[in-house]
Amino acid sequence: MNDVHDRQALPWNFVVINALFGKTTSSQETVVVKPDGSTLIMLSSSAPLHNEEGFITGAVIVFQDITAQKMLERQKNAFLSLASHELRTPITAIMGFAEILQLKDVQEEGLDPISQRAITQIVAQSDQLARLIDEMLDLTRLENAQLSLDCALHDLHATLKEAIESQKITARDHSIRLASKGLAATDRVIGYFDEQRVMQIMNNLISNAIKYSPNGGEIEVGLQRTPENPDEALIWVRDHGIGIPRNEVHLIFQRFHRASNLDKSMSGLGMGLYLVKELVTRHEGHVWVESTEGEGSTFYVLLPLKKERHLNRISAKR
Ligand code: ADP
Repeated sequence: MNDVHDRQALPWNFVVINALFGKTTSSQETVVVKPDGSTLIMLSSSAPLHNEEGFITGAVIVFQDITAQKMLERQKNAFLSLASHELRTPITAIMGFAEILQLKDVQEEGLDPISQRAITQIVAQSDQLARLIDEMLDLTRLENAQLSLDCALHDLHATLKEAIESQKITARDHSIRLASKGLAATDRVIGYFDEQRVMQIMNNLISNAIKYSPNGGEIEVGLQRTPENPDEALIWVRDHGIGIPRNEVHLIFQRFHRASNLDKSMSGLGMGLYLVKELVTRHEGHVWVESTEGEGSTFYVLLPLKKERHLNRISAKR
């Protein structure tokens, strides 16, 4: 087995020696090759054993065979990957044809209002579906370590402005405002990043801010060069929406986690923030949230701007 999920087998004696030297290890994923050549995936945890005087007299190692679980995970990824590829083609066609009809409506004599509304809905809903499918595709790319960044020098200020403009198109009850601290409107903030991926991060955070503020209101998108380090930029997206329950704040960047305070009408799969975190981490940045339930949330992204970084490293599977 040689995909990214597998770790090189640790020689058992290392685990034992570590434990005998007083080190406790937990849930190390390890591949074991059996004499017949087949492999098992194990989780191993080890700890030293002490006598009454506190001297180490031995070690205990616990193994858990997770081969079946891993196989299921791979099958799930393969299915997701296939399903999202297969869904992408028809949805692209639907969007394309709906846009042609929209254009025809503008260029020639207008359609009746019901047909106009129907076409607008087809475009909006298929756009939403396409975004979900893209998230599924990204998720499988991540799982298979196939998601890489395409970095170049870009103006972060311009990227943020573009993301705001694209979100404004669908935001009817919300105003989206850019608050650039210490920057003039025309100032450029040049950094080395993947523009499409940063756009995706911003679209995710802003569309969440809209979705989770059902009563409308102002959404502030902020940009600031961090005073302590001019090679970093701090971005934030602030809303005055439903907020996140305090005991769930630490969970919302996990795959598929959706908070318990959501209304049934708030659709989603819980993939967006997981992808945001992965994309920010791949840029060697950090993302976090401050939130009060019932008052609103602020998501922060700290993005390094310098070119001399080692991006695109394939992170070992958690
Ligand atoms: P989705 O929106 O599809 O559920 P996300 O991964 O984008 O998935 O978000 C995960 C969860 O985090 C959401 O289901 C919601 O509970 C919470 N969340 C995200 N953004 C906000 C926000 N701006 N305000 C309140 N809760 C949020």
